[in-house]
Amino acid sequence: MSRQRLGQNFLTDRAVAGRIIRSASVTSTSTVLEVGPGKGALTHQLAASAGTLTVVEVDPALALELRERFAGNKNVDVVEADARTVDPDSLPLIIGREYTLIANLPYYAATPIVRNFLESEQPPARMVVMVQREVANEMQAEPGEMSMLSIAVQVYAESRTLFTVLPDAFTPRPKVTSAVIELTPRTEPLVASEQRHDFFKLAKAGFRAPRKQLHNSLASGLNIDTALARSIIGNAGIDSERRPATISIAEWQGLLTAWAEAGKPYVVHGTSRKQRAEALKR
Ligand code: SAM
Repeated sequence: MSRQRLGQNFLTDRAVAGRIIRSASVTSTSTVLEVGPGKGALTHQLAASAGTLTVVEVDPALALELRERFAGNKNVDVVEADARTVDPDSLPLIIGREYTLIANLPYYAATPIVRNFLESEQPPARMVVMVQREVANEMQAEPGEMSMLSIAVQVYAESRTLFTVLPDAFTPRPKVTSAVIELTPRTEPLVASEQRHDFFKLAKAGFRAPRKQLHNSLASGLNIDTALARSIIGNAGIDSERRPATISIAEWQGLLTAWAEAGKPYVVHGTSRKQRAEALKR
């Protein structure tokens, strides 16, 4: 991937870097993971203030530079890996420890990186990350403006915006304003682990046609008849004419119960008419 496509907008405003680090309350006993250290705008201060620092950088040239630069720091581990898929449990200085994740995230991968860590077996105790302001707003949206991203983040974490950062703080200058947010993973996610697979499958189906009314969107996502979708939604005590964006996480849980009571009807898209009829009989 080209450097531009890796979302390499480097932070050049030291005051902003300092503010991010202060917000994360790093001390000499902290275990810190930095995602996308780049040229080290945050890394230097973190290496000096944290107990241990692991940095995960996908760009081999930047990882090599950092490895050379921090060769003398025994508390710093530079890992060349993709933060969208890396398992925190595989990182020697992180495994089994409570840690803080800090990052100025690449815009193109901010959502999958946040989700990878929130959904992992060993989520951070706290995340202080910079993302595009619109993404920050979407993560914190309330019913009326919910999306799959809002649901995916809120099931796992509480979040709040700490401050916004203007494009001037970076080189090259991005086109958008950024926001630094704090995400605090919940000790108990809002949806129990054994229900999560079905919960996300159902919500994803419900958002298949986000502008449509819920019965149409859900029918389309599950590939079932609108009448059946309407009855499931009715059994959950929800007005089926509402739009998916207005449904709260608690209401999605109610929908999951009603869907399960109806036998979890779902037909893989692309199935023939006959196979579909068979599948819905079961
Ligand atoms: N932390 C530096 C700063 O504040 O100046 C760099 C931030 S820059 C917005 C994003 C960094 O993430 C770049 O160094 C980029 O190479 C790295 N990066 C991009 N995609 C990544 C991925 N999938 N996994 C890990 N790092 C990634």
